[in-house]
Amino acid sequence: MTHPFLDLAPLGAAHFAAIEDRVARLLDTEQDVVIMQGEALLPLEGCIRGAARPGTKALNVITGPYGQTFGNWLRDCGASVVDLAVPFHTAVTAAQVEAAFAEHPDIDFVSLVHAEAATGNTNPVAEIGEVVRAHGALFMLDAVASVAAEPLLPDAWGVDLCVIGAQKAMGGPAGVSAVSVSERAWQRMAANPEAPRRSYLSLLDWKERWIDGGRKALLHAPAQLEMLALEACVERIEAEGLAALTVRHATAATATRAGALALGGGLEPYVYEAADAAPVATTLRAPRGVDASDLVARALAADPVLPLVAGGGALAKEMIRVNHYGPDATRGVVHASLAALGAAMGEAGLGVDLEAARRAVTEIWA
Ligand SMILES: *Cc1c(COP(=O)(O)O)cnc(C)c1O
Repeated sequence: MTHPFLDLAPLGAAHFAAIEDRVARLLDTEQDVVIMQGEALLPLEGCIRGAARPGTKALNVITGPYGQTFGNWLRDCGASVVDLAVPFHTAVTAAQVEAAFAEHPDIDFVSLVHAEAATGNTNPVAEIGEVVRAHGALFMLDAVASVAAEPLLPDAWGVDLCVIGAQKAMGGPAGVSAVSVSERAWQRMAANPEAPRRSYLSLLDWKERWIDGGRKALLHAPAQLEMLALEACVERIEAEGLAALTVRHATAATATRAGALALGGGLEPYVYEAADAAPVATTLRAPRGVDASDLVARALAADPVLPLVAGGGALAKEMIRVNHYGPDATRGVVHASLAALGAAMGEAGLGVDLEAARRAVTEIWA
């Protein structure tokens, strides 16, 4: 019996290279783009282990849970790490990054998360990139939650290592990811005796055995289904238009924020300033005395397909996430998410105005 997922023709090097080129166009980058055969944490760890070593002075910006992970990897590589942590309800500023350089002029590596789906904030990468560039440090960006949800211009912003995954706003598979690598980043890694080599974490293996060989021979059999899904999702983005897709995400975020405020009952945007709120997902603060996980469970009991989730870890009691990304960045999903949350709040005895929330969302979308 044939099956749509099985019995596929092998994915050849030329096809693989063509998918890489398409991803590069999406990022508007002239740099090398390496597609990694795993979820985005693979290239993120590969970048850090490739670039950092004993003697590295790293500025690690923490605006959510991923920044914490990067700091642990950096320390594990023997780097000396300056953590710049800002509260999850806000964004980091270029001035804060400048101040860190003023205090530690020997910083030669900066890791930053662009948008944080887990906490709902987004950081001003263009401005931060100027500061990092002025000090000559290598700049790594986790753009997994920003790609296709908001403008992302690694070359224009001076990003040396820009990591993306397809599973959020791109509406694609989670099992492959990509990273654009600048010439400086390649040089840094090549000069690092500690950089992974002959390893699944190795970016240098892809440079030396794939890119430098003219992309003729793959290192191993690629994750074929995931690669085809990545190609299909980029094709779908090209058909809609990247600009239209980012507008759809921005609209979903603005509408969710406005709708939540109109709903009342003590529900509030978690990120104080709208300018700091990520287009990929909107985080909300549960009303005082109400457990966010309980509220989400009630809402999902009524409508299990909604993209609602409570915050992770310590945030589970206070944070509600509306993951309006990819195919969920629609007016219908935003309406339904707020209606379900509002109904759950009503059951909990809170006064909510469902009609006002509905009007607020509709107005933004018009
Ligand atoms: C989603 C995301 C990732 C990928 O992690 P998952 O646990 O697979 O979702 C990495 N970085 C950021 C900023 C993300 O939002």
